[in-house]
Amino acid sequence: MKSLLDGIRALDTEMRTIRHDLHAHPELGLETHRTSAVVADFLEGLGIETHRGVGGTGVVGVLRGRRSNRSVGLRADMDALAIAEATGLPYASRTPGLMHGCGHDGHTAMLLGAAKYLAQHRDFEGTVNLIFQPGEEGYDGAREMIRDGLFERFPCDAVFGMHNEPGLPLGQMRTGFGTIAAGGGNFDITVQGRGAHGAEPDRGIDPVLAACHVVTALQSIVARNVPPLASVVVSATRIEGGSAYNVIPESATISGTARYFDVALGETVQARIAALASGIAEGFGATAETDFRVMFAPHVNDPEKTALMVACARSILDPEAVSTEMEPSLGSEDFSFMLEAVTGAYMMIGNGSGHPLHHPEYDFCDDALVHGAALYVRLAQEATRAPEEQDPT
Ligand SMILES: [Zn+2]
Ligand SMILES: [Zn+2]
Repeated sequence: MKSLLDGIRALDTEMRTIRHDLHAHPELGLETHRTSAVVADFLEGLGIETHRGVGGTGVVGVLRGRRSNRSVGLRADMDALAIAEATGLPYASRTPGLMHGCGHDGHTAMLLGAAKYLAQHRDFEGTVNLIFQPGEEGYDGAREMIRDGLFERFPCDAVFGMHNEPGLPLGQMRTGFGTIAAGGGNFDITVQGRGAHGAEPDRGIDPVLAACHVVTALQSIVARNVPPLASVVVSATRIEGGSAYNVIPESATISGTARYFDVALGETVQARIAALASGIAEGFGATAETDFRVMFAPHVNDPEKTALMVACARSILDPEAVSTEMEPSLGSEDFSFMLEAVTGAYMMIGNGSGHPLHHPEYDFCDDALVHGAALYVRLAQEATRAPEEQDPT
């Protein structure tokens, strides 16, 4: 149906204006105060029932259609990154050290465009919950909203999200069925020894030496505790201890990240990290405390909801432009927690050539706004329709 895309194109200029304004005013983590106000004011200006302060700075707009008691959640993230922007664009960040380097300005503008279309046309049946989430970039924004009763206050039969993908041609989209991205967490291991003069090591317990052995042993987890055909990553990315050439310090810390597709394997990894750390430290006469914080759930696209999302995307674009062959990635995205709470699906939107995500010269491609907005609208229309009536073609 080309008519939906044409209808969305009428909102293209407005979406670009919103996007450039958000781009010029990036905000980090859960502190998206201005962005949330821009979103909430826009929704209220459309006469949409608007809830501010969901999980801190989250915003939810609720649109109620005719008939059907089905409901859907459409989610966009709003936060920026601690990167100094180097695009030189006229609407570049006005906040030194912060930029929209992941395109969440585009995601927010797309969902606001969809909100305006839906508010104007009212051509959907059940309830559409427009979910604007802060803190996607490692600030636990999705769980903040869920803990604040997101899905109890705004019940959703399904929830859908999307992300732009540089390198995927404009006008193309892709996704996969089942697990498409890893879950994982970050860890800190504190090895406690006993300080001494660097020339008298026998009088202390060296936590640096013990920590080095722990780092080496952590690599045995993937090699010896994970089935060979499963994918797990354990990376020790930081090791700190000591401050002088001639002092054996009291303690040393090891930090890192682990990623996995299977929650049970993730628990095995956590247990092995803690057991290796404490066992090896003990062998050296030291002690080790492990703190593992789960940051992301494995990202599971529900097959049925994915099929619906793919059908919606194919009704907007050429059917061949929508691929379901996406390879699972060990990157993570906290929309996985929403998919854990409510079934749903997630799709990548072509952002054309250009710099990769999180690059100081990256910029969301404005030409992709209409594609994302149209997909949100089509999902609202199809996911709220009574099941026997669903037919996105
Ligand atoms: Zn990002
Ligand atoms: Zn992102």
